[in-house]
Amino acid sequence: MKSFAAFTADQSIREVESETPSPAGKEVLLRITHSGVCHSDIHARQGHFDLGSRGKMSLAARGMGESIVMGHEIVGEVVAVGGDVVDKKVGDRLLVYPWLGCGECTRCLDGRENACTRSRTIGGQLPGGYADHVLVPNEKYLLDINGLDPSWAATLACSGVTSFSAINKVLPLPPEAPIAVIGAGGVGLSAIAILTAMGHRNTIALDLNTANLELAAAAGATHTFLMDSESSRATVVDALGFSPDAIIDFVNNSQTSTLGFDWIVKGGIMVQVGLFGGELVVPTTLLAMKMITLRGSFVGNLGELTELVELAKSGQLPQAPVSFGPLSEDGVRNALDALEARLVSGRVVLVANN
Ligand SMILES: [Zn+2]
Ligand SMILES: [Zn+2]
Repeated sequence: MKSFAAFTADQSIREVESETPSPAGKEVLLRITHSGVCHSDIHARQGHFDLGSRGKMSLAARGMGESIVMGHEIVGEVVAVGGDVVDKKVGDRLLVYPWLGCGECTRCLDGRENACTRSRTIGGQLPGGYADHVLVPNEKYLLDINGLDPSWAATLACSGVTSFSAINKVLPLPPEAPIAVIGAGGVGLSAIAILTAMGHRNTIALDLNTANLELAAAAGATHTFLMDSESSRATVVDALGFSPDAIIDFVNNSQTSTLGFDWIVKGGIMVQVGLFGGELVVPTTLLAMKMITLRGSFVGNLGELTELVELAKSGQLPQAPVSFGPLSEDGVRNALDALEARLVSGRVVLVANN
């Protein structure tokens, strides 16, 4: 099989040839047809995540080596199954749930594998979707996507479920309560579309890019605000005249998190999702007096992805914008470069030509 691996030493993407695995037990082998490209893969290619004044967190600290096969938004066709697989068969076209844990700790047994301290992410610790095949450790991580556009279905596994899980952390709220979404890239747009599908009627999109705000309005945002590096509570309140009950921050850098903390209404909830790096310094007295709930959210669990796929199948969820590239060494590199240079609106999905 061919993989398009990232080498952190020189940040290169190179094609690697290896033996195609044979599935055993509950394992399933897929031939990949669609592979979404995520902004977090830019950080992975760099080999570290930004931790503000605490420096950088290396990929090695997250259990990854010097070369990894990234890609965690995967749709493929089953080409072989292990002897204990009962529900999946050769020819099925399926979506991969990639956020695996150890499978044994209390959080994994509770269905929250994404909160496991021993992550085994497909496209992180385990080889992922920038390849022609992927081995999935258990058939239970494969979801039926019958009737869905496979390129869009692929994006549900990360950008979709990340926004769905963040939304689950702010709801229930009355449909008129303002919910601000900071960052209207692929994940933020998906959040706006899901909120709209769920009947929410007051969503504010904030972004640095006018094209993203236009897409946000098309996805159902009722207000938009064009940010710049000077944007603060004062400029936002000046333009909009109110404070939101909830803020979902898909950028989550020093500026946006500070803006959010200063802007949120008393008793409001902030959900921090983005991995852009930086830090939030909070007056502890204000945190108490304003009764702010401040929490983080990282991807989502298998139950949430299952619910989201059902929502998509119901036809209520507008399809998020997707652009395409080839699933190849150049395709992976070009897509990551374009995302890093902020040249892409919406999501990029790489498509295999086989
Ligand atoms: Zn992702
Ligand atoms: Zn676990």
